[in-house]
Amino acid sequence: MPRPLKVLFVASECAPFAKTGGLGDVIGALPIALHRGGIDVRVVIPLYAGLPWTQLERLEGTVGVPMWFGPAWAGVRLGRLPRSEVPVYFLEHHRYFDRPHLYGTASQAYHDNLERFAFLSRGALELSKALGWIPDVIHAHDWQTALAPVYVDTVEWAQPLHGCATVYTIHNLAHQGVFDGDAMFVTSLGREHYNAAEFEHFGTLNLTKAALARSTLLSTVSPTYAREIQTSADGFGLDGVLAGRSGDLRGILNGIDVEEWDPATDPHLPAHFDARARDGKAACKAALQEEARLPVRPDPPLFSFVGRLTRQKGIDVLAHALERILGWDVQVVLLGTGDPDAEAFFSDAARARPDRFAAWIGFDNARAHRIEAGADFLLMPSRFEPCGLNQLYSLRYGTLPIVRATGGLADTVVNYDEAAGTGTGFVLHDLRPDSLVDTVGWALSTWHDRPEHIARLRQAAMEQDFSWGRSAQQYEELYREAVVRRRGHALL
Ligand code: ADP
Repeated sequence: MPRPLKVLFVASECAPFAKTGGLGDVIGALPIALHRGGIDVRVVIPLYAGLPWTQLERLEGTVGVPMWFGPAWAGVRLGRLPRSEVPVYFLEHHRYFDRPHLYGTASQAYHDNLERFAFLSRGALELSKALGWIPDVIHAHDWQTALAPVYVDTVEWAQPLHGCATVYTIHNLAHQGVFDGDAMFVTSLGREHYNAAEFEHFGTLNLTKAALARSTLLSTVSPTYAREIQTSADGFGLDGVLAGRSGDLRGILNGIDVEEWDPATDPHLPAHFDARARDGKAACKAALQEEARLPVRPDPPLFSFVGRLTRQKGIDVLAHALERILGWDVQVVLLGTGDPDAEAFFSDAARARPDRFAAWIGFDNARAHRIEAGADFLLMPSRFEPCGLNQLYSLRYGTLPIVRATGGLADTVVNYDEAAGTGTGFVLHDLRPDSLVDTVGWALSTWHDRPEHIARLRQAAMEQDFSWGRSAQQYEELYREAVVRRRGHALL
């Protein structure tokens, strides 16, 4: 038997402590599944404002983090992921992290984000040395921690972390950590690293590019997205770099936290249900209609959208399709924040059609649960979607996803086959308002003309297994492969 792996997660989000999207969900759940599989996994994130500071154990002493101006000091607090033994270390540095947002406002990123996240990436490495806990694998996630594998491969050369393999996971390639080329000094790395094979990308400083070059192995969050990002259409300018490491890049689907998202026990719901006893779903629908101030009627199908109001999610397409969709006897609810114009558009649309459309502008986890449970269909006409979690939640809650065939959506939703009555949702291919309207119309006609098919799709959807176990196994294989690559032999 190989000995248990030691894996250090370095990330900028971790649910339930700090989350702006799917990244936070993954960091809050994957380590628990890995731990169940016998891996000694620990997580490092910043101590942001609003966290339950006083409930966290304060570790003695401080960690000196080498920064461009000299050492910056980090206090360390220790907590656990809920319902688990997985340690979470919080790096405390008020000047960087005691702020109202994680990264800045919707319109303006914090001007010192490079410095803040250099501190996190380097601080995590210093912490593991200070703890005397040298991991086998350092697993970094998205641009905020992209510097961690770079430091392992540079300043840690011939140092205690020298033998650590590194894995870099792309959760969303649209965000790469791009800064002014003159800011290279903030990383504390020499100017010689500002070259086209590492940080330099068309005259800018690109953290993701350096991580792609330096990490032992790479992954992203679905097999389809792993292929798509190697093409110019979806590679956001890094497709060439990714294609160059094609053999080192894996696509591993995200799972979901099946305890937090369980319609049989979910404390946010007014009634409960599961794949065998689905009656409670009708009560959830009625309660959601009431909450949305829509007519409480079982017969019109209730469509929903939950998510960031950005172009990635295809909300411009939804906006253009909305009026035609609302021309039918349907109901639509939307929950989201993001682009101010989109927020204004959907608020206005809700005021214009209070009988058919409700929009909540805000971030509200409990309401997201109630929507997943109470709606009949979930709309996800994404422009691109690395994995997507909402469609997985909606499958589990018997809410049929209507998705565009991209990224993880293509890997997780099986299109309705009208002849056979099989599938788990409805899939559109073109990102055009007409296609969305047509697909919603298809779902609507199925709802009225073939209700037995809707019931079968629901049943099939709810029986899907997207728990983290299988993905965790694939990550473990990836870690073991990374160790062999780094050290030239398997763990002894
Ligand atoms: P992304 O990571 O691109 O934002 P995902 O579908 O992978 O998209 O994950 C989004 C996560 O954030 C889900 O857990 C979803 O429920 C949650 N979420 C997004 N917007 C909201 C909101 N306005 N209120 C509550 N939860 C939200």
